Amino acid sequence: MVTEMTKATGMSDIAIIGAGPVGLFAVFEFGLLGMKCQVIDALEQVGGQCAALYPEKPIYDIPGFPRIDAAALVERLSQQASHFAPILHLGEQVTRLTRDLADSCFRITTDKGREIMARAVVIAAGVGAFGPNRPPIGGIEAFEGKSVFYAVKDREALRGKRLVIAGGGDSALDWALALAGEAAKIYLVHRRAKFRAAPATIAALDAAVARGEIELVTPYQLAGLTAQADAPDHIASVELADMDGGTRSLPADILLAFFGLSMNLGPINDWGLGLSDQHIAVDAASMATTTPGIFAIGDIAHYAGKLKLILTGFAEAAQAAHAARSFLNPGKEFHFVHSTSAVKDVEG
Ligand SMILES: Cc1cc2nc3c(=O)[nH]c(=O)nc-3n(C[C@H](O)[C@H](O)[C@H](O)COP(=O)(O)OP(=O)(O)OC[C@H]3O[C@@H](n4cnc5c(N)ncnc54)[C@H](O)[C@@H]3O)c2cc1C
Repeated sequence: MVTEMTKATGMSDIAIIGAGPVGLFAVFEFGLLGMKCQVIDALEQVGGQCAALYPEKPIYDIPGFPRIDAAALVERLSQQASHFAPILHLGEQVTRLTRDLADSCFRITTDKGREIMARAVVIAAGVGAFGPNRPPIGGIEAFEGKSVFYAVKDREALRGKRLVIAGGGDSALDWALALAGEAAKIYLVHRRAKFRAAPATIAALDAAVARGEIELVTPYQLAGLTAQADAPDHIASVELADMDGGTRSLPADILLAFFGLSMNLGPINDWGLGLSDQHIAVDAASMATTTPGIFAIGDIAHYAGKLKLILTGFAEAAQAAHAARSFLNPGKEFHFVHSTSAVKDVEG
């Protein structure tokens, strides 16, 4: 894909806000119907939640793939999108979206000062430009990316390490189970004795604890980090506190903290699209929002019966592409064409 570095961008057919799995697939669906896309994402990488939160976790409900790791899915979606050579603007958050009546287009402004003009807009912003919830530990920033992580991006780097995994939900449990047997030691820290996870996951956790692969440390909260004497951005131990004033110190190399996401839909609130409860209401047949020419797809789009799944978002991308083509070509009739006829030479 082309990563365009200049600030000047000409008029595009479509601007897609969000390069998550759904935004990426939209590039392909719009491309099939002859529309060129520019894609903007606040993250430095494509793939949205798949890339940022769970790249090495397997996904089992992508049609045609009995199992595929999230990172591999993103790679394949990128490959599929690149057939239509989208222009990608990464590491830029869209802050403004306005309609330009004089030029019959939309103007999109990013926090890096870029202005993009497009004849129609697709909002594939998922849960927003998100970031992890940080544990409330003073000075934790100094360790982030070195010995404190909020997502696992390089599983191999954890092999043989002493890990403190903090959190009580699926991410903490899934990773504790996935890394059991690979790490030298796993402490699973939670402020309650009970975990919030599917019964099968809890059963797997109990079994791993019984085998001595995971040590439960509950009910404790993270209270501080002690740095290595000769490497101030690497932890030597994780300090804990319980509700009764008790403390514990866990010797560790890495802290993995899974305290959920802080979602920042931020500027989208100001675009007059009736964002409510983190969602944009759309017409389920066309994915059109209340503003003609602006479509919403993926996790951010809502209608009766909506399922927040990647495969749902893929179908929504196709629906939006057909609706946007009609919007851009009023009065023109199109015949339905399958991808087999529309794409000539996609690499396998
Ligand atoms: C741990 C976990 C496991 C999951 N497992 C599955 C599974 O097995 N199967 C399944 O179908 N789904 C699963 N999901 C859900 C799935 O990841 C989401 O449904 C999917 O990512 C939604 O895709 P999206 O493209 O709509 O949004 P996202 O993936 O959220 O991508 C949206 C992108 O938009 C960007 N963005 C937002 N606002 C702006 C802005 N103003 N400017 C620029 N960029 C912006 C964000 O940075 C982000 O990259 C899982 C989710 C999690 C957290």
